[in-house]
Amino acid sequence: MITIDYHSHHYRCGHAQGNIEDYIKAGINKGLTEIGISDHAPIYWMDGNDPLPTIAMAKNELDGYVEEVLRLKDKYAGQIAVRLGIESDYIEDMDETYAKVFEKYPFDYVIGSVHHVSKINVFERSRWTSGVKALDVYREYYRLVAKSAQSGLFDILAHTSAILAYAPQPFPADLPDVQDEALAAIAAAGALIEVNTSGYRKMTIDPFPTARMVEKAAELGIPMTFSSDCHRPDEVGYARDKIEAILVRAGVTQLGTFANRQRIMIPFAATTVLC
Ligand SMILES: [Zn+2]
Ligand SMILES: [Zn+2]
Repeated sequence: MITIDYHSHHYRCGHAQGNIEDYIKAGINKGLTEIGISDHAPIYWMDGNDPLPTIAMAKNELDGYVEEVLRLKDKYAGQIAVRLGIESDYIEDMDETYAKVFEKYPFDYVIGSVHHVSKINVFERSRWTSGVKALDVYREYYRLVAKSAQSGLFDILAHTSAILAYAPQPFPADLPDVQDEALAAIAAAGALIEVNTSGYRKMTIDPFPTARMVEKAAELGIPMTFSSDCHRPDEVGYARDKIEAILVRAGVTQLGTFANRQRIMIPFAATTVLC
């Protein structure tokens, strides 16, 4: 059974519900042994204290966020391991700015996310009605994903098929090649990816990355971890049974956990019976 969840949000980002403690309590109630708190990092690629108040916490909220997670880590020690994380945008040519922020705080791990392609959010539906060629969008998205892996800034690469969330279907026949090229770059960089169940909540048929990509990643020896990307306390551990089945099928035997930015692979004890 999967007993970890490395991706969670709360009210500070402006689009999630509840406070951090609500998510920790939900994790305990669901039998998790570890929960990673990873709210959206401030938007350092825009000026001002709080340029996108419904997307990410303000710059002056980061200190309080870190202090609160550290306090709760102590409070719940012995019941659940609380990890201090953060989900950061990957922005080309801003590696140094972000590295400085990550160094300033005692993060257990940093998640890197490609949230914008050609300056448009990956979850923006209007992209697809603007006459753009889908394959060009995928190529650009996966170029950035590969670059985020090569940057060495991140411990976890987030939702590596998020661009598909609201994309037109059927997908182009060349899409798997584009994805596999990015996975090869991720493997070469030694990076770890999450299997993120918000995919089921957004595009409904697959997690991020897709089940096919999880199999390919396993083949390439890319380490993986589990994440629900919860934005409500009741989404903690969301659909972990489905991911367990996919991981078992792919022959995955370990999952990644983090402390002090060190990756620790733990055995993944499958309880799923396959027929
Ligand atoms: Zn969010
Ligand atoms: Zn994200």
